[in-house]
Amino acid sequence: MDNLLDRVQNVLLLGPGPSPVAPSTYQALSRPTLGHLDPFFIEIMDEIKANLAIVLGTKNTFTIPISGTGSAGMETAFVNTIEQGDRVLVLANGVFGNRMIDVATRLGADVDVLNFPWGQPVSIDQAADKLKQNQYKIVAMVHAETSTGVLNPAREIGDLLKSTDSLYLLDCVTSLCGMPVEVDNWHVDVCYSGSQKCLSCPPGIAPITFSDRAMEKITNRASKVPNWYLDMNLLTAYWASASRVYHHTAPINMLYGLYQSLYNVLEEGLEQVFLRHQKAHARLIAGLSEMGWEMLVAEPYRLPMLNTVKVPQGIDEKALRARLRDQYLIEVGSGLGDLAGKVIRIGLMGYGAKEENVDRLLKAIQEILK
Ligand code: PLP
Repeated sequence: MDNLLDRVQNVLLLGPGPSPVAPSTYQALSRPTLGHLDPFFIEIMDEIKANLAIVLGTKNTFTIPISGTGSAGMETAFVNTIEQGDRVLVLANGVFGNRMIDVATRLGADVDVLNFPWGQPVSIDQAADKLKQNQYKIVAMVHAETSTGVLNPAREIGDLLKSTDSLYLLDCVTSLCGMPVEVDNWHVDVCYSGSQKCLSCPPGIAPITFSDRAMEKITNRASKVPNWYLDMNLLTAYWASASRVYHHTAPINMLYGLYQSLYNVLEEGLEQVFLRHQKAHARLIAGLSEMGWEMLVAEPYRLPMLNTVKVPQGIDEKALRARLRDQYLIEVGSGLGDLAGKVIRIGLMGYGAKEENVDRLLKAIQEILK
């Protein structure tokens, strides 16, 4: 019988995620599966929680991995904190900001949106004006907007919100472990991420953390959390050290993968990891500008791990991406929405953020263009 998996190629993942996985993480995934209440697995769970808190820059007790991809992190953040009719402000400048609007609207929130052009950051002044005019239960923003490659001012928005009653929800799916994320210093109440970007674990786990203030809102809700699987009141009973009440069967081997990817990041050192991302990013920008290619995003707002490049006139970006994939075994991402056909998105995430990978990509593009 033909096994399709025998034909899976080792593609260099330089798109918007998933990112390349380190051999140690692949090894971790194939360790023997333990029971989800096994005492040794519980030790692993405790260390995952502690290490997640370190990379998120938080002392929050409620810091756990959610079973599911980054979108499960987003759902968990909103479904637990929103109650019917709550006023929510979303600061949006791309696909994932728009997804927040959709998720919050489906939960019956009264959603207000401050939109910014794709490719530009959220304006702190406009956000400040909006917050003067209205009071919100929740203000939400994406830190690193993967659809455009824009870095949003997470610390500054936190400063605006710290003296208000609004909960601050921040999406750090793409930024976590590729650049500083400081949940406590930035006064973030709920922050979630995904395993498949700068953590370099396969997709399937979403780290999340809740401040005491956010947990207070969740435990004092007038109505039950409308989603059983993602209800933090139930999940914490499994993840809290004292209780360990069965909720759902944890994805054991995925959690081994997360454990190992956190281990790898912390062993290298967060600062060193950030520097490696910066160096790879700088080399890419230098190489592309030598070729005369321009970036979509102005320099101060560029993400190191997600580079959006304008495709010069006369180059068929779809054909370019197809040849990179088929001939050179390199994946890069397409543009989304209005940017489709106009840009390519080059991810330098986690284990993939290396200068040698940048050189391999640039050489491949140059050969194709010849
Ligand atoms: N938020 C951001 C900023 C993302 O980049 C992504 C995925 O690319 C998501 C949320 C959703 O994550 P997932 O596709 O893992 O569900």
